[in-house]
Amino acid sequence: MEKMSKTVCKLCRQRKTRCNRKLPKCDYCVKADVECQYVKDKSKPGLRAGYVTALEERLSTSSSFVQGSTNGGL
Ligand SMILES: [Zn+2]
Ligand SMILES: [Zn+2]
Repeated sequence: MEKMSKTVCKLCRQRKTRCNRKLPKCDYCVKADVECQYVKDKSKPGLRAGYVTALEERLSTSSSFVQGSTNGGL
């Protein structure tokens, strides 16, 4: 059960070359002297860079109402 991730760099993908996925550059890119860019297979390389939807969910602690009023009189 080997999970072969098909994450190859851009160039290897275009050239259909075997990418050894070396970091920061694979051997092919080193030889070609180009920038080694790894792209994810699922997401298409969009042009909009910087469009980050960071949904920060703040886990606000449940408001603890501490009523420290102890009326022990009467
Ligand atoms: Zn490569
Ligand atoms: Zn590469």
